[in-house]
Amino acid sequence: MSKEQGARHFETLAAHAALGPDASFGAAVPPIVLSTTFEHAPDGSLPHGYIYTRTGNPNRNALEAALATLEGGAACATFGSGQAAVMSVFQALAPGDHVVAPLDVYHGVHTLLKDIFERWGLVVSFVDLTDLKAADAAITSKTKLVWAESPSNPLLRITDLKALGELAHRKKAIFAVDNTWATPALQRPLSLGADLVMHSTTKYLGGHSDVLGGAIVAREADGIFARIRTVQQVGGAVPSPFDCWLVARGIRSLPSRMRTHCENATRVAEFLTTRKGVKAVHFPGLPGHPGHAVAKQQMSGFGGMLSIEIDGDAARAQRVTARVKVFLQATSLGGTESLIEHRRSVEGPYSTTPETLLRLSIGLEHPDDLIADLDQAIE
Ligand code: PLP
Repeated sequence: MSKEQGARHFETLAAHAALGPDASFGAAVPPIVLSTTFEHAPDGSLPHGYIYTRTGNPNRNALEAALATLEGGAACATFGSGQAAVMSVFQALAPGDHVVAPLDVYHGVHTLLKDIFERWGLVVSFVDLTDLKAADAAITSKTKLVWAESPSNPLLRITDLKALGELAHRKKAIFAVDNTWATPALQRPLSLGADLVMHSTTKYLGGHSDVLGGAIVAREADGIFARIRTVQQVGGAVPSPFDCWLVARGIRSLPSRMRTHCENATRVAEFLTTRKGVKAVHFPGLPGHPGHAVAKQQMSGFGGMLSIEIDGDAARAQRVTARVKVFLQATSLGGTESLIEHRRSVEGPYSTTPETLLRLSIGLEHPDDLIADLDQAIE
């Protein structure tokens, strides 16, 4: 068993997440259990509770317990990608159910809802959920689920999660929050009223750009979560034991990494507000950001993501991504290395992202090197 019982602070919980010692060898770091099948006792019972790795595996169970603890939830189901985790939530609904999602929801979720779930009979309204009046008008007695993402990808818009959760619950809708960008180190949506929290564990939780995964953490282990668990175990989009082991390892350094991501992003954002050639800086830590006050209330740090709009046209913005030397021009986020990306080029047909927008995932390098790199790359 882990030492989590003696932990009072988030850092301690994270540092001990999914650690041993294991029963077989006393190994401090648990072994990876690759076996797909588990021995029954002579009477057919399952001495360790495992039967087959699609339905449960020691590494997956340890990761799920750790994520539930860090988010303050009762249960967690992990998946082979963030998108598979998102899918499980919508697959747990029924044809005809109404869903309210943010207008600028992560483009993969937008595509999922438009191209898969509308065809399956979900009725989806895309609404600016940072506008609580618009949200209130869109959530009706037919709404089964409200999906929020804060900060949003890639415009870093901030939604008042507590207020939106109250609107959702007033109409008896389930309130789900994609907490990928903030992580439980900075924001805990269940404590703000959410019923479900979603993560792409590919990002900050894994933390090293070397594992794909997703998770749903639930406030209660019954109701919609029971259906999500069925989708996971029967649908089978589960993470491998090694994937679970890697995410669990990433989680142990999450609080320290997030602290540095936040500090570096703040330094870079402040520099960019002063840099000629940059028309706008989207970072909730800046006092002038429209969501700054709400972010300050519901987050303990502003995160490591920011986006900028370059003065000029798309070609000028793309030239910046070609000129960087420390930043890597690549998609994704949340790793140790800083990434820069022209978002519109990768977002597909539903994109409403400005053509001059560049998204930056600020890594763990020295902020002076990142600032110097952007300074030489921006015309
Ligand atoms: N949600 C957000 C906010 C994301 O940024 C991403 C991926 O970038 C996802 C969900 C999807 O996760 P994955 O790529 O692990 O499937």
